[in-house]
Amino acid sequence: MEVVLPSVAEALLREIKQTYQETLQISDEHLLGLKFIFGPTALYALDLVDQRSVTHVTSPCGRKAFQVTGSSGKVYTCYSSCHYCSCPAFSFSVLRKNEALVCKHILAVYLSQATGLCQELTVSDKQICDILLSKED
Ligand SMILES: [Zn+2]
Repeated sequence: MEVVLPSVAEALLREIKQTYQETLQISDEHLLGLKFIFGPTALYALDLVDQRSVTHVTSPCGRKAFQVTGSSGKVYTCYSSCHYCSCPAFSFSVLRKNEALVCKHILAVYLSQATGLCQELTVSDKQICDILLSKED
């Protein structure tokens, strides 16, 4: 995955993945690291992962996306091949004001992959096009 995260964040996510495979938990040290790098977003993202809010959607033609159900119940689409989320916080805090690295949904996608707590869903080619074009609403 080509990610625009700083290498320290990527290294942390890799470490979390390794440790999680052995211990099935995220260590206190790693939690502190997440909080240090991502601030309060880390806690919201961990919550989303805890609630199994992240779904990896794939279709027969090989298209992929992630859908994250936000705390309000609204579903946001995160793209796996680029660093993007359809939520307002991403447009505002990440793209416009450049004051956050990620929104909680994107971080939840990374964390759910590191921990394997990601739901898998296969949909038709048409359905995934609708998702990627944000026609699901
Ligand atoms: Zn988002």
